[in-house]
Amino acid sequence: MEIDEELRANTNVAYISMEIAIDSNIPTYSGGLGVLSGDTVRSAADLEIPMVGICLCYSSGYFYQFFNEFGEQKEKEIAWNFYYEFDKVEKPITVKIENKDVLVSAWLYRVIGQSGHILPIYLLTTDVEGNEEWMKKMTGSLYDSTSRWNRIVQEMILGIGGVKLLKSLGYNNIETYHLNEGHGSFSTLELYNELGNIEKVKEKFAFTTHTPVPAGHDRFKNDLVKKVFENRMPSEIQKLADDNGEFNMTFLGMALSRYRNAVAKKHGDISRKMFPQYEIDYITNGVHLPFWVSKPLRKMFGRKWPNWRANPSVLENAIELDDLDLFDAHIENKFNLINYQKGHSWNLLDEELITIGFARRFATYKRATLIFHDIDRLGKICKNRVQFIFAGKAHPKDQMGKDYIKEIHESGEYLYNNYGVKVVMMENYNMDLAHMLVSGVDIWLNTPNRYREASGTSGMKAALNGVPNFSVLDGWWLEGYKMNALSGWAIGPDDSNPNDPGVSNDWDIDSNALYETLENEILPTYLNHDEWIFRQKNAISLAAYFNTHRMIMEYADRAYRLRRQRPWKYIK
Ligand SMILES: *Cc1c(COP(=O)(O)O)cnc(C)c1O
Repeated sequence: MEIDEELRANTNVAYISMEIAIDSNIPTYSGGLGVLSGDTVRSAADLEIPMVGICLCYSSGYFYQFFNEFGEQKEKEIAWNFYYEFDKVEKPITVKIENKDVLVSAWLYRVIGQSGHILPIYLLTTDVEGNEEWMKKMTGSLYDSTSRWNRIVQEMILGIGGVKLLKSLGYNNIETYHLNEGHGSFSTLELYNELGNIEKVKEKFAFTTHTPVPAGHDRFKNDLVKKVFENRMPSEIQKLADDNGEFNMTFLGMALSRYRNAVAKKHGDISRKMFPQYEIDYITNGVHLPFWVSKPLRKMFGRKWPNWRANPSVLENAIELDDLDLFDAHIENKFNLINYQKGHSWNLLDEELITIGFARRFATYKRATLIFHDIDRLGKICKNRVQFIFAGKAHPKDQMGKDYIKEIHESGEYLYNNYGVKVVMMENYNMDLAHMLVSGVDIWLNTPNRYREASGTSGMKAALNGVPNFSVLDGWWLEGYKMNALSGWAIGPDDSNPNDPGVSNDWDIDSNALYETLENEILPTYLNHDEWIFRQKNAISLAAYFNTHRMIMEYADRAYRLRRQRPWKYIK
């Protein structure tokens, strides 16, 4: 079954992303980037933005994570079968890699918006009859780190294959190719070959950067580029991507875009410093509220504001929610989480205790173990009152990230043996587990190194579900906390004084601030029932802004140049 002609003809935004988290179990994401992409297409479908999505189809996924008896992460490849929920595109296209024509086909998934609007997503695959065996594996796993060759090849398939596939399917009116991070930047080459001039190519692209961590920007050695493209890389393009003798995918995407943006206000400031040659706007991230709201809160919101899904700004009035309703809704979520936890661990959490949650990718800058920095002090504060639940994956090649996971297990054992304080680490963090965690814990913790977190989104999901944030002032929380300081707590200083020693991310200073706030502010507030519910309501009110409906409207205006009347039209 195909997408009908009218829809194809009306589609004028192609969203190109290495990850799009369509569903918790479909292995097309590893973390925040993919979840954001998923929320973006969900909101775009709801608001009938004429968009098509392009991603790869990773049949062995990212990986399934489990822990051995020493608390070490182990990984297992998964084997996802795309046959059930997807339609196969009949006619493959080809992407030239080295001197071979590689066949690329795709699985089609339809995101259905609230009013029934269809947003097609094509997941490209080289597992196609007619390809040699080694080619079939090219798109097998996400962020496969076995070789840089595999990585560049995947990015050629995503970028070049994506544009070619859309053409072959009759998407002839794309006015904006939105490069969601640099992985898709090779698509500029395909347009360059077609349009023959840099200025015309530039009119067609918008670029979003997602990380202030320099190593997070893809670079390839020029020899590798030469190997896979042979002599097909135009020197004009090569020059634009040049980064001290390497080929930089962010440079390429930025150089060839008419619009560029970062994903939070502070991230905009940092990105303009990292890439001073470009104008860079910012559009702060959000989450798709109907997707991330827990069932009890969904019912409560529905009773209070029947139209809240279409118009999330009504959540500004969260203060009007009924105290008891909110209390009951949260308890239901908390019991749900703790019940689930008990079925998945020998170390059983307790419904009565204040539960602090922390879940994210175990990238080193996220400082997952900051809270254990003075472990005896933490033990004394938490004894008989507080427990912890952690989750998150480390990239298989990231030994530092893996060491953090082990340290959490070890710290947990120490805290339990000495203070009876429980720390559990759940296996295989994915969106299903995230749903339970962000709604079922009492406090959502985040302790990144300052200005390394582009935005972060899990804290927005927590806020939506009435779970206050307790976080270092970075990414979206700098904005959220400034908007409403009653919606949670800050750890350490903000960015108003860049010379403040706290901004140096000193572990002593930050952990000290964390313990003080936890002991002297958060725990006493929790004991004051009314005050706590007041805080929960303030947290919910943040969701009026930090949602992907608001976000995608900003993209529509500034990145896609769409006029705000439906059907959406491109402004020439
Ligand atoms: C929301 C989410 C993320 C991103 O959260 P951050 O706050 O950016 O770390 C990552 N993984 C999963 C499974 C999520 O649901």
